Amino acid sequence: MGWAPATSTNYSVRLPDDAAPEYCAITSSGVDKAEIEVEHILAVDQQGRALDGNGLTPSAETPLHLLLYRRMGAGAVLHTHSLSAALLSQLARDEGRIVLSGWELLKGLNGIESHETEVSLPIFPNSQDMQALSLRVGQSFSTEQCCYGFLLAGHGLYVWGKDLPEAKRHLEVFEYLLQCQREATFHGHPATTR
Ligand SMILES: [Zn+2]
Repeated sequence: MGWAPATSTNYSVRLPDDAAPEYCAITSSGVDKAEIEVEHILAVDQQGRALDGNGLTPSAETPLHLLLYRRMGAGAVLHTHSLSAALLSQLARDEGRIVLSGWELLKGLNGIESHETEVSLPIFPNSQDMQALSLRVGQSFSTEQCCYGFLLAGHGLYVWGKDLPEAKRHLEVFEYLLQCQREATFHGHPATTR
């Protein structure tokens, strides 16, 4: 889909409690996701330390995945670098969010039953300090009303779900709607549809 250019993006699933100290399985840093094999996925503990990595390094963005498991009860976390996510998050950076409303496909998000609703995708400034970034994102969860995903400005999209199928569905919803917004922006409309 063009959502994972070069070696960008990362994906993880929460492991069952009885797998402790293994906490989640996450993709390795620096792998082209078009060529990914099962040996490029490694288990990490609750602090993000590799447990069976065979020399692989967990994704640099592991702290954000761990945050979503801890704070949002996620079962799977998917992070893409699509053109729409990178571009719109950069354009709407000062507004701090992209609001999606009136779209039928919003109903693909868990708990949403009508297009007549508003879903907000918060935008955080990008950073290479993942610990600081995850702290900042975590602080916002107490004030964000209904959070299904977020954007990192000029970087990409994070979504999650109770399990991998739900996370994939949420990802496809957001990518599609961001593409709608991108087209609208191209025709001179704002990047957000409030
Ligand atoms: Zn990224």
